[in-house]
Amino acid sequence: MSDETHCQYHGQACVSCCGLFNLKVSPLQLRLLLIQRTWQFRRLQSRLHPPDMVAYRQNREAAEAGLERHDAEVYVCPFLGYLHPFQKKKPGCMVHPLQTGQPQGQNFSFYGASICQGYDCPVKDHDQKRVWPLVLEQVCRSWLTYSRLVCDRSLYALILAVLEDEVRLPLLNRNPQRRAAFLELCRRRLQNNDSQAMTSFQLDHTDYKQLYRKNPDRFMELADRVFAGGPSAVADQADRGVPVYEALLVESQTSFFNKHLAQVIDALRLGFRF
Ligand code: SF4
Ligand code: SF4
Repeated sequence: MSDETHCQYHGQACVSCCGLFNLKVSPLQLRLLLIQRTWQFRRLQSRLHPPDMVAYRQNREAAEAGLERHDAEVYVCPFLGYLHPFQKKKPGCMVHPLQTGQPQGQNFSFYGASICQGYDCPVKDHDQKRVWPLVLEQVCRSWLTYSRLVCDRSLYALILAVLEDEVRLPLLNRNPQRRAAFLELCRRRLQNNDSQAMTSFQLDHTDYKQLYRKNPDRFMELADRVFAGGPSAVADQADRGVPVYEALLVESQTSFFNKHLAQVIDALRLGFRF
């Protein structure tokens, strides 16, 4: 098995548990914020000199204090930045041991090294074979969407319930109808308010698999809720700085699937035409 994990997977990266999406700002502002952090961090004389690190953290926390949050209780860590500042493509932890060579460098952060290195979100914990990031990598154009989908336990559980077993997960992208249905569900989920504030800490213990088998009506009711967009989805659509959700391939058959969640789910399950 490769060293790639859900958190850093080839060209993709997840930033959810570091709190970035707790900020109620546009995708463009998120990108600009990461650029600011990265350059400020890289200008430090010594990146592991304690006074510099403390000053950096305090300075960034103060600079970002005025940004609106989805949840006041969820911390937004300023040590998240771009790992390769000249490419500005992939975010990650700037004080991770692989970046600094220091195993305890994350102790300068709010959570500390043991939590930062020990935390696995529920999806990562469940998907030991790392199939889910492989599936998402093929449909996401940027880390902004990959990140919000890869740790989304509701979406993951719903898809697995429909597929009925994990073995079929890697097949999602192989069949055109199945792929289109999958893309549509991802696109819808990205419009949902919970997805827009993704931290990976959301609680959802619903056993979707059991529901799907035993109570399909209730399953559809919950699925409808997970895939329903809310007011902040509308606000995000108005953001013209970056194409909304920029990441999902346009091949998603939006207008057709949009009205028919049950059919989309059937297409995903069966993988053939309506
Ligand atoms: S939310 Fe999960 S996948 Fe994302 S960075 Fe955290 S542990 Fe990794
Ligand atoms: S210090 Fe911890 S919370 Fe902060 S960016 Fe690094 S891993 Fe994320």
